Amino acid sequence: MVCVSCSRWRLEPGEMPPNSSAVMSLPAHARIVIVGGGIIGCSTAYHLTRMGVRDVLLLERKQLTSGTTWHAAGLVRSTLYTQNLTRLAKYTVDLYTRLEAETGQATGFIQPGSISIATNAERWQELMRGVGMLRSFGVEAHPISPREAQVKWPLMQIDDVVGAIWYPQDGKCNPIDTCMALAKGARVGGARIIENTKVDRILVENGRAVGVKTAAGVVHAEIVVNCAGIWARELGRTVGVDVPLQACEHFYVVTDPMEGMHPDLPVMRDMDHCAYYKEDAGKLLLGAFERRAKPWGLDGIPEDFAFGELPEDFNHFAPILDDAMKRVPSLSRVGIRKFFNGPESFTADGRYVLGPAPEIDGFFVAAGFNSIGIQSGGGAGMALAHWIAEGNPPFDLWDVDIRRLFPHQNATSFLVPRVSESLGLLYDMHWPFRQYETSRGVRRTVLHDRIAAAGACFGEVAGWERPNWFALPGQAPRYAYSYGRQNWFEASRQEHVAVRERVGLFDQSCFAKYVVKGRDAMRVLNRVSCNEVDVAPGQVVYTQWLNARGGIESDLTVFRLRPDEYMVVTSAMSQLRDRRHLERHIVEDDRVAVVDVTSGFAMIGLMGPCARDLLSSLSEDDLSNEAFPFATTCEIGIGAARVRATRITYVGELGYELMVPTEFASAVFDLVVEAGASYGLRLAGYHAMNSLRIEKAYRHWGHDISPDETPLEAGLGFCVAWEKKGGFIGREALLRQRDEGIRQRLVQFILEEADPLLYHDEPILREGHHVGRITSGMYGHSLGGAVGLGYVDLGGPVPAAEILSAQYQIDVAGRRVGARASLKSLYDPGSARSRV
Ligand SMILES: Cc1cc2nc3c(=O)[nH]c(=O)nc-3n(C[C@H](O)[C@H](O)[C@H](O)COP(=O)(O)OP(=O)(O)OC[C@H]3O[C@@H](n4cnc5c(N)ncnc54)[C@H](O)[C@@H]3O)c2cc1C
Repeated sequence: MVCVSCSRWRLEPGEMPPNSSAVMSLPAHARIVIVGGGIIGCSTAYHLTRMGVRDVLLLERKQLTSGTTWHAAGLVRSTLYTQNLTRLAKYTVDLYTRLEAETGQATGFIQPGSISIATNAERWQELMRGVGMLRSFGVEAHPISPREAQVKWPLMQIDDVVGAIWYPQDGKCNPIDTCMALAKGARVGGARIIENTKVDRILVENGRAVGVKTAAGVVHAEIVVNCAGIWARELGRTVGVDVPLQACEHFYVVTDPMEGMHPDLPVMRDMDHCAYYKEDAGKLLLGAFERRAKPWGLDGIPEDFAFGELPEDFNHFAPILDDAMKRVPSLSRVGIRKFFNGPESFTADGRYVLGPAPEIDGFFVAAGFNSIGIQSGGGAGMALAHWIAEGNPPFDLWDVDIRRLFPHQNATSFLVPRVSESLGLLYDMHWPFRQYETSRGVRRTVLHDRIAAAGACFGEVAGWERPNWFALPGQAPRYAYSYGRQNWFEASRQEHVAVRERVGLFDQSCFAKYVVKGRDAMRVLNRVSCNEVDVAPGQVVYTQWLNARGGIESDLTVFRLRPDEYMVVTSAMSQLRDRRHLERHIVEDDRVAVVDVTSGFAMIGLMGPCARDLLSSLSEDDLSNEAFPFATTCEIGIGAARVRATRITYVGELGYELMVPTEFASAVFDLVVEAGASYGLRLAGYHAMNSLRIEKAYRHWGHDISPDETPLEAGLGFCVAWEKKGGFIGREALLRQRDEGIRQRLVQFILEEADPLLYHDEPILREGHHVGRITSGMYGHSLGGAVGLGYVDLGGPVPAAEILSAQYQIDVAGRRVGARASLKSLYDPGSARSRV
């Protein structure tokens, strides 16, 4: 039946949705079993069959769409926060445009476009930065005046509107119909869809999912896919797989029929007031992302929950409605026909959870869609189908990759407060460097209290509290956010200068560390590393781990400790991902163990021209350049502690990373700080580290390098040991690329004006044409301007010299700022300073 209040499909108990399957018996085997018949499960089934995968079975506990999908508002944007997520969003729009013609099932998809309004200067800057970013992604976005916005959305009051952006490609659909179209397409492609069949248990043997158990029997399978929506967390838990998501109440109201509402009216977003407005069958649908959300289902989702609604909560929604009546005054003259409250899953970082579960093989997850499941439906299903069928996603999807998540995020005590914040952040200001306020302090380094006492302002990465900057005397260690220079600019500048001129101390204890030990340690590491790791004990190797396409899966350092023992050091965020990558490449006959020793060692970075003198004053060991040269590691004594010191740097200066057994770390820290007073030592934070490393053009995995870029494109060809014995994963792809020539290269830029700031995703223009985007940016205090790294793509193989023979500009919030380009790092291009 069609719902009287919102004119969308609404099924009565026992009623079958259109195209629903007749009763079908459960097979004993299927190659792939998908659990959950919402938009994501149906899209995954659709795409698998489109890719020619046979023997796909989708099991739905109740009826298709009966979870969250049936009540979605149906907004379908063509954009998302990052380049690759926008690629997925654009794919969804393309798919929905043709899905009805392809399947014969109406989807209700139209593209009336959307408008986002700004009611203050900072939001306007944010939207304008977004315009540049989207253009560099190939998405249409046009700044328009408040008056022009009102012409497109006549009922809107614009007295307080500073400006608006018009996104002509955005659309809307009927979620139930769209899901049914995907299900129909999947069935036509050969998938079997069986409703009223709950998966009670995932069957696991020898660390691999091998099927599912239902009341109607067991289905053996090669791969099981968890698309169970708000139930996905519990389902994952039954087999020890973390799917950190939590249901929250999510609201909209639908008015009585309202004059001026017609299907072609664009969607309108007023994010400063947490609201979106959409025409819905002649009525107005007003939805919200309120600042503090209401988690729901803390005692579990009721067993019989299907096509379910939650109780109204007018008090909670009232502030949104009050603001809405100011924005759309005619709203106060119509009745509210429907107050809708339904559960949707939200995650700790506002991004969904996609990909192969790291805990067990043959088990994939697609869940936690943070209220964008309909607009993600096409893209996420397509990406997951590739991942399942080919072993890799179609392009880098680290932003939503399940491996970015950590077990602590699945703890209710962490998740519940966090999602009540993360839901609101979807529409709140997306300030540069914005930190979460909830669920903090879960991972603290052993130096935390000392660092805090010294005035650290902490940020959170992978649960770790990390000092981002140290407050100056009289300053509170608290962020004051803006798109301009924030309140920590001067403090961070002083830390930066201290590292360049004297010595700085970084608490790098959050860096992940694994010991790789055993007869075949070298062989395994050499297989995954593109650099040569068969080096003498005591040598340190900077390397990448590549995929078969030559893309960079990991960027890390490998220390050889003994002939059969290595230490691998990588970033905090990559702790689970990199270990999993390494373990996946250990084959049956290899005798090697990988042990994560992150918690066993604190790490103190001592960086700057005075680092050696400071350290020598505390150690009896010979730290001269001759005895202890760059890219080597050895144990030294500091006080009573034996410490692994490594000559390496991420900031471009003479420096040491000191790996200190945790129980000795505080004492070593105290000794260094006390002795450091005579050398001008300063505690330095991660903002300073970022500015120092970008000046030196050191790449950061996840920003400047990813599985989509190769070492040759990233300017890391010096890390490729082409001729090493046994080769390495990705070598063939790299050889092909070397022969054919590379079409994009990582370039460093410095703005020619001192004031504008770079963060990331600002478009790069060459002779006025878009050629790429900034992948990471920061103010460079030594270079005297904002510095950024970014890829320049000239559409075909281009000699390096040609890259530089042009005028460049960077688009900063709509203004084109001249920029100098360099293929060598602008700071200390010969790297002499770190090798003294
Ligand atoms: C008020 C509201 C408005 C929204 N508006 C929008 C919007 O405008 N645009 C947008 O993009 N998104 C919107 N969303 C979000 C969107 O609805 C969801 O992100 C999306 O529907 C999630 O789809 P799913 O397939 O992951 O989950 P679901 O639709 O919940 O599907 C999961 C399915 O798995 C089944 N299942 C669970 N456990 C089992 C089991 N053990 N065995 C078998 N089956 C099982 C369930 O019955 C369910 O049918 C909105 C959400 C809400 C609440």
